[in-house]
Amino acid sequence: DDDLDILESATEDPDAIVYLPALPVLAIVGRPNVGKSALVNRILGRREAVVQDTPGVTRDRVNYKAEWADRRFTIVDTGGWEPDAKGINASVAAQAEVAVDLADAVLFVVDATVGATATDEHVVRMLRGSKKPVILVANKVDDARQESDAAVLWNLGLGEPWPVSALHGRGVADLLDKVLEVLPETSAVAKREVGGPRRVALLGRPNVGKSSLLNKTAGEERVVVNELAGTTRDPVDEQIELGGKVWQFVDTAGIRRRVNLAQGADFYATLRTSAALEKAEVAVVLIDVSEVISVQDLKIIDLVLESGRALVLAFNKWDLLDDDRRRYLEREIEQDLSHVSWAPRVNISAKTGRHMEKLVPALELALESWDKRIPTGKFNALLAELTAEHPHPVRGGKQPRILFGTQAASRPPTFVLFTTGFLDPQYRRFITRRLREIFGFEGSPINVNMRVRE
Ligand code: GDP
Repeated sequence: DDDLDILESATEDPDAIVYLPALPVLAIVGRPNVGKSALVNRILGRREAVVQDTPGVTRDRVNYKAEWADRRFTIVDTGGWEPDAKGINASVAAQAEVAVDLADAVLFVVDATVGATATDEHVVRMLRGSKKPVILVANKVDDARQESDAAVLWNLGLGEPWPVSALHGRGVADLLDKVLEVLPETSAVAKREVGGPRRVALLGRPNVGKSSLLNKTAGEERVVVNELAGTTRDPVDEQIELGGKVWQFVDTAGIRRRVNLAQGADFYATLRTSAALEKAEVAVVLIDVSEVISVQDLKIIDLVLESGRALVLAFNKWDLLDDDRRRYLEREIEQDLSHVSWAPRVNISAKTGRHMEKLVPALELALESWDKRIPTGKFNALLAELTAEHPHPVRGGKQPRILFGTQAASRPPTFVLFTTGFLDPQYRRFITRRLREIFGFEGSPINVNMRVRE
């Protein structure tokens, strides 16, 4: 419930609905064992967030919300992927590539006690070619005597090395001040407000048909737009006209670029997916109907849910479906996808073009839900009705009551209930379900939070 604090201030004026901010993204890049995890831990100010750097240990988690001097940003930790010596160049280069494509700024971490290695220099060349701000962090500078180790790193050509000790915290505050100087205040999504195209992430495991879908749409309807009011065009994104409107497909470079990695391909995919979601407003998750719905598909959907973005499910390769497989598919959807039964579904074939025209209405529906605002009066009338027809059960002689509720944010719709005691999770689910039944919210996650007032 990281967002509750912003909501708290927003709820002082119940009719002022804020957009949950799309935060700027800071990527942390560097060789294994330079101390990336320790640095992430230090920035987050909690120990348990990331496990200690251990070579070969793969972490699943990639995105963290961080805060410094009242500003919030997302950290993309590329360090979950620690290959053996042979794979190092490829993996560190791939980390850097994702960071450069999808982050607003990069922290490049070097071990000052080791100095710059050939791998570091390789990455530096890549980072320097990008237009993104890069801050060079000289880690493991535990005391003043070691600062000369850091100074040597000037020769990497990335400007001033920032000496820190991630382990002891030395220099980290100064580093974070510097980070805030280079991180943009508003994120890519916030910039869209002035009327640019809406931002779509096309997601799915390898070979589900992402590039085919892109080629089909781009081949027929692509527009080359140079000057669209209020847009910043990122070279890794593509603007495509569909259904008479321009859409910004984020990170198409990640779809078109085929990365051949012997190791760590899953982590690379997760990294790319998470970072693309940060830049998107709505995700289209492609699922290949010719194969069984897999753990990997579900993981991608989980990432979307965690990101709070709107969701459309596109069942692709529909041309390959026979009656047998179709029956199984329906069962799998019931079993595996019931938690996202609110997401619009389109059954398409990127190959034949079947039902491609249904994608746009689904996207529009999902985004409309994601943006939706329920007036406070209407919401409280509903709450009164719900609690009258179905009061909260008595717990330990007391019955928690809902005093008042408000939609404190949209994108995604986020409700806060002010209560006299803790509501059962079950009761919260009941309210969420009824909200969906009454207001729809097809294609958007919704949050129902609670503030207990004594
Ligand atoms: P990506 O890895 O998600 O980008 O997947 P691709 O677009 O490269 O597609 C993987 C393979 O599936 C290719 O051989 C495509 O031709 C094939 N494919 C993609 N969409 C469809 C579809 O709707 N029907 C059929 N039959 N094949 C498809």
